[in-house]
Amino acid sequence: QDVLVVGRDLEVSYLTASGALPAVRGVNFTLRRGRMLAVVGESGSGKSTLLRAVGTILPRGQALISDGTLAIGGEDVSTMTPERLQQMRRKHIGVVFQDASSALNPVMTVGAQLIEAILSGNPMPKAQARSRAAELLAAVQIADPQERLDQYPHQFSGGMKQRIVIAIALAQNPDILLADEPTSALDVTIQQQILVLLRRMQQESRMAMMLVTHDLGLVSRYADDVAVIYGGRIVETGTVEEVFRNPSHPYTRALRAAAPRLHAPGEGKRLSAITGDPPMLGQFPPGCSFAPRCGRTHGRPLCQTQTPEPRPVGGKLVACHFAEEV
Ligand code: ATP
Ligand code: MG
Repeated sequence: QDVLVVGRDLEVSYLTASGALPAVRGVNFTLRRGRMLAVVGESGSGKSTLLRAVGTILPRGQALISDGTLAIGGEDVSTMTPERLQQMRRKHIGVVFQDASSALNPVMTVGAQLIEAILSGNPMPKAQARSRAAELLAAVQIADPQERLDQYPHQFSGGMKQRIVIAIALAQNPDILLADEPTSALDVTIQQQILVLLRRMQQESRMAMMLVTHDLGLVSRYADDVAVIYGGRIVETGTVEEVFRNPSHPYTRALRAAAPRLHAPGEGKRLSAITGDPPMLGQFPPGCSFAPRCGRTHGRPLCQTQTPEPRPVGGKLVACHFAEEV
């Protein structure tokens, strides 16, 4: 089946000194085989929290799914034993984070790290694992893979290190690939190469992918679907084409206006040009969280009292009481 991940009314909270505070609130989404969902929004909007929840890698004892359901491969994660969770994570989910250097062990060769990832939960003769490791390096376009296997991370450039991290993430042929700002630490030209590579591999292996990014240019070029997140809620979601061609939520419009070079991807521009600040954890205003910064409604009474639920508007789902006013 094509649907690999389903989140329903998902709430994810951090355990803080002032109690459990939600960072992701009532989120609904689906990850499908062969499709890339981009998650965009300002810093602190809950993107990484959502990605970690999907990867079942929330920091233990600090964060938890506090409401709603998350199903992976049709199985509700809340009913999985720790062993089952670990097995599922290892076999089905690959994760790539922003900082390749810290994801790699500096005192182990690249080959040893790849072989470890290949062998984890999947025993095979060492020689076979080594040739599989060389194949993976070649797949992420690293030349001379046989020689490269015996080198250490510091012998590779930043872009190459991120390719190695991607190779490690793909070692078990996962069906689900989660990438959290995988190119933000890299040069613009390298960002493009990495995204092209990720996109190609995602399509070839028909993986379901979630890409967290600040870069709307990358989204418009490589993703299929987009979820715009503000204050922990998805405020607008749909295909990239429909959301970007005709954004309905004032926040999506503001984001787009803040990224003038939408069609020159890879600028890595921080989305900081919107006036005001996003709400802090535990300090979401009542009603629509975006109302205090909204240029469309200037905080009409309805916006200040009633939380807008996502509803169909022009082929997308939009959480704005005045979505039709554009
Ligand atoms: P960025 O673009 O800066 O990476 P983000 O959209 O990924 O931001 P998250 O990291 O998901 O945002 O954070 C969402 C909210 O949760 C923020 O208000 C953040 O301060 C808070 N938060 C994140 N990690 C923790 C933690 N371990 N304990 C408490 N609060 C946290
Ligand atoms: Mg983040």
